[in-house]
Amino acid sequence: MTNNRNGQNIRLQGIAVSPGIIIGKARIVDRSKQKIVYQYIVNANDLNREVERFKDAIQATRDQITAVKNNMPEQLKQHAFILEAHLMILDDNMVTDATVKNIFEEKINAEWALKKSVQKINKVFNEIDDEYIRERFSDVENVAERILRNLAGKGPETITITDENVIIVAHNLSPADTTELNTSKILGFITDIGGRTSHTAIMAQALEIPAVVGLEAATNIITDGCLLIVDGYKGEVIINPDVNLISAFQEKQTYYEKYKSSILRLSYLPSVTTDGHRVTLKANIEFVEEITAAKDHGAEGIGLYRTEYLYMRSKGIPDEEELFNDYKQVAQIIQPETVTIRTLDIGGDKFLSSYQGAKEMNPALGLRAIRFCLKETDIFRSQLRAILRASAFGKVQILFPMISGLQELLDVKKVLADVMKDLKKRKIEYDHDIKIGIMIEIPSAVTVADILAKNVDFFSIGTNDLIQYALAIDRVNEHVAFMYEPYHPAVIRMIMQTVKAARDAGIEVALCGEMAADPMCASILLGIGIDELSMTSGAIPLIKKVIRSISRKQAMNDLNHIIGLTTAMEVKNFIEKNLDRFIPDIKDKDIMQPPGAK
Ligand code: PEP
Ligand code: MG
Repeated sequence: MTNNRNGQNIRLQGIAVSPGIIIGKARIVDRSKQKIVYQYIVNANDLNREVERFKDAIQATRDQITAVKNNMPEQLKQHAFILEAHLMILDDNMVTDATVKNIFEEKINAEWALKKSVQKINKVFNEIDDEYIRERFSDVENVAERILRNLAGKGPETITITDENVIIVAHNLSPADTTELNTSKILGFITDIGGRTSHTAIMAQALEIPAVVGLEAATNIITDGCLLIVDGYKGEVIINPDVNLISAFQEKQTYYEKYKSSILRLSYLPSVTTDGHRVTLKANIEFVEEITAAKDHGAEGIGLYRTEYLYMRSKGIPDEEELFNDYKQVAQIIQPETVTIRTLDIGGDKFLSSYQGAKEMNPALGLRAIRFCLKETDIFRSQLRAILRASAFGKVQILFPMISGLQELLDVKKVLADVMKDLKKRKIEYDHDIKIGIMIEIPSAVTVADILAKNVDFFSIGTNDLIQYALAIDRVNEHVAFMYEPYHPAVIRMIMQTVKAARDAGIEVALCGEMAADPMCASILLGIGIDELSMTSGAIPLIKKVIRSISRKQAMNDLNHIIGLTTAMEVKNFIEKNLDRFIPDIKDKDIMQPPGAK
């Protein structure tokens, strides 16, 4: 936090999760915690009554969540599954049975017993390496808060917003909170906790309003009604700004608004360089509901459909029919464009209750993605059948993640051939010419890319993992995040080697990691000769603008210079020195950060 003496221009730094600049009054929403949880020993004769009280609170909570879910506004309906997850938490033994057990065994009141169960769950979540899953603990906390309120006889807390145009300041905002808010009166959100994959981030993006999370002490420092500037590009919040700052940010706001609409207008123009070279821009999606936004942002297809979320939001492993219906819907909606469906990229950790894998020391190097599928072939076959059946309803390609070498690829193709044979025998329709691709995201796959290229129809480079494995940097460990470097000469060389192997074999090569959404990397990737970039839809217009403003010839010349550079810093400096060539017509480098960028 930075401050000046008269309490003006106090700056807080957080994480930018939804872009835009807003200036407005703070509205503190203090729904953080039941401040005091009463703890007392219960007389042995009253234990049953205590359990009844707990069960009543669970039922009241269930009714409240169901009511919120049924009243969700249209824009947020796609996130109803989060509330379904909250309902599932109410049924989870670690919450209900454990609390009842605590009441009986320790002879304590329901509040205390629940608190103990939640502490135990917290311990379990803390041991999970996956950031996305770890952050889901806030769901458990949220549900527990509601139960505690009901135990205290308080009922649900409602947030009434009387003023127009306020900025919500909260410790945390759950999807249920967001649903209860009258979002038409809200300019944006800021919260003490949360990360890039927190629900506040997801909701703010869905509502297209700016948000900054992880400010740590915003609710302590900010007073209700004070003026705030929120910069959803840089993750900065300014409390009580002076007139000079206000007018500077108003100018910035106008610039961004104009800029945003100008690039959105480009969405439907072709993605070609000034010298006529075409680069296909597609969207990465996790849910079928995202396709409309992808199309609106000018996506020419879905370059990466990450299928693991359907498995994560189901109670057990989803069956073939459920998967088929989902994939079929995607294939039909995206027509006449193509969807590239990636098979399950999941590790033991991500299965939580429905799959109990062994605890791994290094999950990123463990039984993940294709390795898991080759072990659990029933799960794999069921997904392959669903994908193949969906291919009869649109243009579908299959993408296999985490391929490390030829033998693994041959094993995968054998399972696929078996599944195809079976469908044929049963006279079930599918696209017999379906294209098969692999993610290039393990260094060994780069080294043998020439061999792999002869056995597939396309490559898709997953730079998120490729950088992780090439530079030995855990992509979810914040302590080494500063070393996560797309400009590292090793990374650039690996991408070049992969593209060369694809060229020599006459197959197409896409790139679908975060690097595709980074405008500062676009020229390098163009110079290397990537055919397709696939990214979060919000980033497409900006990348299109960059592609349309640069020439392939210049990008190749620059690449020639870049491959002679020896460190990531030298590459970065070279780009920054020649910014007008790498990102022409874009004055402000801050706008370069796509939503959720690292
Ligand atoms: C990647 O690794 O770059 C990628 C696109 O896949 P994911 O982020 O889902 O691992
Ligand atoms: Mg990956």
